[in-house]
Amino acid sequence: MNFEELYQDLVLDHSRRPRNYGELPEAQVHVHGDNPMCGDEVTVHLHVGDGQVIDGLKFTGSGCSICMASASLMTQRLRNKTRAEAGEIASRFHALLTDEQPSEADPRLGDAAVLGTVRKFPQRVKCATLPWHALKEALAVSEQGGTDRQISIE
Ligand code: ZN
Repeated sequence: MNFEELYQDLVLDHSRRPRNYGELPEAQVHVHGDNPMCGDEVTVHLHVGDGQVIDGLKFTGSGCSICMASASLMTQRLRNKTRAEAGEIASRFHALLTDEQPSEADPRLGDAAVLGTVRKFPQRVKCATLPWHALKEALAVSEQGGTDRQISIE
């Protein structure tokens, strides 16, 4: 299977059957992110437990297949990571889609690295990065002891 096929397969699979979709009753932080260009809306629900480890991470909302697949792949990838590690992986994901010179995908991105393909469609980049923006915001909010925030990426 080549990279394009792998991309299509994963996006289709994760957008049809999103992993970690739903409320997280024990969540400490909820960040609602919205991408008005496409109409994507994602809320990230986060719980950080002992040792600064993300032991709960789910999402709700609706959006295009790229956005839903990205949120699904992200939650799968960042669960059980420490707060610091998750922040770093999210930055690597962002760089993969937005750096002018495409770099090698960070191996810690795992399957989420296929979304690097989206950089070829600049008007869709925000669809892919929205959930990761919301997650980074959720980590910041949790560090500040907050609970809720809304962000919009334009
Ligand atoms: Zn979208």
